[in-house]
Amino acid sequence: MVAYRNLGRSGLKVTEITYGNWLTHGSQIENDTAKACVRAALDAGITSFDTADVYANTAAETVLGEALAGERRDGLEVFTKVFWPTGPRGANDRGLSRKHILRSIEGSLSRLQTDYVDLYQAHRYDHVTPLEETMQAFADVVRSGKALYIGVSEWTAEQIRAGVALARELHVPLVSNQPQYSMLWRVIEEQVVPTSEELGLSQVVWSPVAQGVLSGKYLPGAAAPAGSRATDEKGGAQMVRRFTENQDVLTRVQALRPVADELGLTMAQLAVAWVLQNPNVAAALIGASRPEQVAENVKASGVVIPPELLARIDEALGDVVVRDPALTAQSSPASI
Ligand code: NDP
Repeated sequence: MVAYRNLGRSGLKVTEITYGNWLTHGSQIENDTAKACVRAALDAGITSFDTADVYANTAAETVLGEALAGERRDGLEVFTKVFWPTGPRGANDRGLSRKHILRSIEGSLSRLQTDYVDLYQAHRYDHVTPLEETMQAFADVVRSGKALYIGVSEWTAEQIRAGVALARELHVPLVSNQPQYSMLWRVIEEQVVPTSEELGLSQVVWSPVAQGVLSGKYLPGAAAPAGSRATDEKGGAQMVRRFTENQDVLTRVQALRPVADELGLTMAQLAVAWVLQNPNVAAALIGASRPEQVAENVKASGVVIPPELLARIDEALGDVVVRDPALTAQSSPASI
């Protein structure tokens, strides 16, 4: 079964492997496959689920709500997010204003068929809305019982520090940040992780398998396998291209295979286990286009990678690893 970790310094426990439905539910895969993936997650012991209002322009929340209907709500941890434009994409259907936060949570709860989410996350930093307004609105969401904890996503160390200062004044639990993190993308290590450790936040990390690239299935010089994200022109292909179009990345990823073999793991399992070696990571958010991937990847829970193999991973990947901490700031647009 999947182990639990506490989210930040809070008492909330989440499964260290959490299922996320970006690009898949309501888009790449049919609803019955989506439900089969959620079933596979539940059967494997995953109880934490991550989505966002913007995924498939709200359809992903609806699919997840339907897939989880009938499960014991208190036995689940449901996370969603607010920031990007949704629905009719009007001037106020976006950002972290009081109006958008207070209206968006209502839509999310209705689509997810629940009275509350466990974690409500600011999907990016809003450079236009005063942070005081955003944090006050989140505090009101928490006080109304519609969210139990607050998180952020892709915030810089300074933004996290400013958010935590206000959250403390308002007595709201800001407990997590959700950044991209994988063997190939380590931009949080230099600033975001140390600041989060100091302030008591965890990382809930996205794309631990680098969107499928670290499974080793994209071979250098070969066409992407049929049915993979790189062939999904509805959106997935564009998202994963950053990695699949770099032949050096694909070649170096193949050099991880002997390390995975030595540990008796598949390459995807090695990728998920790798992010979980970082003690500031509370959960690896895994995506899946089929239930077998969930069943496979979940076996990374509890795996310990010895230091000599961690060093061999770094050696194998060499300079294709992205580490520049300045890249986090580029995740949030100047205006929305
Ligand atoms: P992953 O890195 O886990 O990639 C998942 C994809 O990789 C699958 O859909 C599948 O794609 C492929 N894959 C996974 N396992 C295997 C395997 N064993 N063998 C072969 N292929 C495999 O994560 P995602 O990129 O999906 O992101 C996970 C979650 O993170 C999201 O659902 C969301 O919750 C969150 N997220 C948050 C963001 C944010 O801004 N806060 C941004 C992005 C994601 P396929 O079969 O189609 O090739």
